[in-house]
Amino acid sequence: MKLFVLASLLLLGFDITAQKVVSITFDDLPYHTNYGISVDEKEKRTKLILTAAREYNAPLIGFVNEYKVYHNGSVDSAFVQMLELWLKDGHSLGNHAFSHMDYNRRDSVAFAEDVKRGALVTAPLCARYAKSYGYFRHPYLHRGDTKEKVEFLARFLRSNGYVEAPVTLDNGEWIFAAAYDSLLKSDRHQALAPLAKEYVNYLRAKLKFYERNSDELFGRKISHVMLLHANNINAFHFAEVLRMFRDEGYNFVTLDKALEDPAYKSRDEYVGRGGISWLHRWAITLKKPREFYRDEPSVPEHVLKLARVAGE
Ligand SMILES: [Zn+2]
Repeated sequence: MKLFVLASLLLLGFDITAQKVVSITFDDLPYHTNYGISVDEKEKRTKLILTAAREYNAPLIGFVNEYKVYHNGSVDSAFVQMLELWLKDGHSLGNHAFSHMDYNRRDSVAFAEDVKRGALVTAPLCARYAKSYGYFRHPYLHRGDTKEKVEFLARFLRSNGYVEAPVTLDNGEWIFAAAYDSLLKSDRHQALAPLAKEYVNYLRAKLKFYERNSDELFGRKISHVMLLHANNINAFHFAEVLRMFRDEGYNFVTLDKALEDPAYKSRDEYVGRGGISWLHRWAITLKKPREFYRDEPSVPEHVLKLARVAGE
């Protein structure tokens, strides 16, 4: 009987082994780019990201740096409207600190102020769309470089109703994004498509690396959280990123859903300056040997070089 049910499910197209899920998160909203484009253009490119999400049925959460929403000291409605586009499509927004402050470089009091200031526009906006607001994503994934700072911030976030948004699929997407901007700026547009292809292949290799980490830590595929940024390479190629995940057997879920995985209750005693994957924080806590981190895919040298040009 059991076999019959199993066979029927398979015939109906249910793949009962397909349990892989990922929550896609975007940082640095409303938009991040290394070269100047108009507000209208940023809005158009935001819409491209959202169109791809709709096509693949991927619920997103975007983390906002509210300093970008202000112009000459007052709130610029054009940027608020860009944030509303995410909410109108049913996505969520969270806090990424007002000024994208680096916690490694600032003390706890200054950082806490930056977090508070980072919610003034977004929190009421979410309320207007009946969306809950309460996730915090650390800029550079820096949780604190001393035990005192880690504990202070975790306590501060908890007591202010925030949930820390972890990242398992950390990656060098921002370097590819800077390289992509460099090509856009220099009009070497024939090199854009090959770079985008390389970008997606790199993300696939990173995904497989973290899947191996997950297997070695938990003996299974955990629910992942992917970090991307609202930038040009994703405006034009997010659909290809989503297709890659789909090809690898992934379904897209909300951050709430991904964090239901008990893996996220793992002990994290990492203290340091690194902005690293939560998988590695858990592995460091468990004192995994160096071998655990072997064969991590790196960003190719020519991409690093192009990105440095963009940064100048
Ligand atoms: Zn950021």
